[in-house]
Amino acid sequence: MASSTAFETDLLRQTVRAFFRDELTPAKVREYDSARRYPKSVWQRLAELGWLALPVSERYGGVGADVRTSVVMTEELARGFASLAVDWVLVSMGARLIETFGTDEQREALLPALARGELTMAFGMSEPDGGTDVLGLRTRARLHEGHWLIKGQKLYTSLADESEYVIVLCRTDDAEEGKKARGLSLILTPTNQPAMQIRRLHLMGMRAAGTCEVFLDDAQAPATAIVGERGRGFYHLLSTLDNERILAAAISLGIAEGALEEMTRYAKERHAFGRPIGGFQAVQHPIADSATEVKAMRLLVEHAADLQSAGEDCGTESTMAKLFAGEVVNRVTDRGMRILGGYGLVEESPMERHFRDARLQVFSPISNEMARNFLGERMGLPKSY
Ligand SMILES: Cc1cc2nc3c(=O)[nH]c(=O)nc-3n(C[C@H](O)[C@H](O)[C@H](O)COP(=O)(O)OP(=O)(O)OC[C@H]3O[C@@H](n4cnc5c(N)ncnc54)[C@H](O)[C@@H]3O)c2cc1C
Repeated sequence: MASSTAFETDLLRQTVRAFFRDELTPAKVREYDSARRYPKSVWQRLAELGWLALPVSERYGGVGADVRTSVVMTEELARGFASLAVDWVLVSMGARLIETFGTDEQREALLPALARGELTMAFGMSEPDGGTDVLGLRTRARLHEGHWLIKGQKLYTSLADESEYVIVLCRTDDAEEGKKARGLSLILTPTNQPAMQIRRLHLMGMRAAGTCEVFLDDAQAPATAIVGERGRGFYHLLSTLDNERILAAAISLGIAEGALEEMTRYAKERHAFGRPIGGFQAVQHPIADSATEVKAMRLLVEHAADLQSAGEDCGTESTMAKLFAGEVVNRVTDRGMRILGGYGLVEESPMERHFRDARLQVFSPISNEMARNFLGERMGLPKSY
């Protein structure tokens, strides 16, 4: 994996900002957010710009970007349009899973096409009975005449209705007593079949991320479609968690940066009682607090990313970054809404979108309560869940 220089990540940052300034303008973002989807041409454009190739290694036509680069990409996408950042992170995670655990055939068939934006993959872990308690999932698969037949339901599967495949986490083998994590597998399941029904959910935040419900009624996948080892799917996912948490924190960072910029601009331009509202301490202080917290958030995210790049254990730091960033982005967008007054509620202002999108960040991909449980346990306290 190539190690990025500060010059390269700065260049990437400037390029993504130019993309949002010149192409995917705030007016278009607003339009796509209201329509609850962006056109495929936007995704295709990300591919043309080389941004879908970042998580794929050079061997499969990608760039093999390091975690610092992924953080900058995620942060800048989230600053402009957080729904797009969510999809980019999910597809990146899928690519890394295939690259790390997939067979040669899966890698060759999927990775170059993912890098070129010709196909996408969704991730189906969450279920009605398996959210934070993901091991509570009920979806099962059984082998029948050379195929897996998958039965169950997935909830909140982003991009499912626009993807060629959903990587479905399901039970292929009975759990051993007290060991529910065993016996779960990841099955690369084609979406183009009547036994898989997909329904788009209408959400309040991250409206354009394309989040769906997926119903599997003996949906078929070839016997060879397991990603990694049969029965070890949950453990494969565990190995991606640190990266997922760092990128989730980067989404929060990007949204918070966008909100901070907007509230600062507004405080300078909006006048009351003969002066800019930013001249009142009651408006200035929350902006100063937000800038301070955003800086702290950035340091946590970058520290976790540096540890991961160096191959060190970053379980604690990535979880702290996710937890802190998720809380801060909600505080910052709340302050932003107050400072904008009535204009905060007008859809024309990006603040109301930042405010809605920030809501996801306290419970996904891991809820902040569960993050605290995990951190407590790492500090030697008794397991609390
Ligand atoms: C826009 C969006 C996109 C998503 N995309 C995907 C996707 O692509 N693929 C996918 O698989 N999932 C996806 N998700 C699902 C997301 O990861 C879950 O929402 C998340 O894991 C939380 O699960 P839940 O919503 O079922 O909440 P629940 O698990 O029901 O939790 C509800 C509350 O209970 C608390 N709680 C539960 N257990 C404990 C405990 N032991 N200790 C303390 N508190 C606890 C939680 O912290 C939370 O506050 C997405 C969700 C959204 C909204």
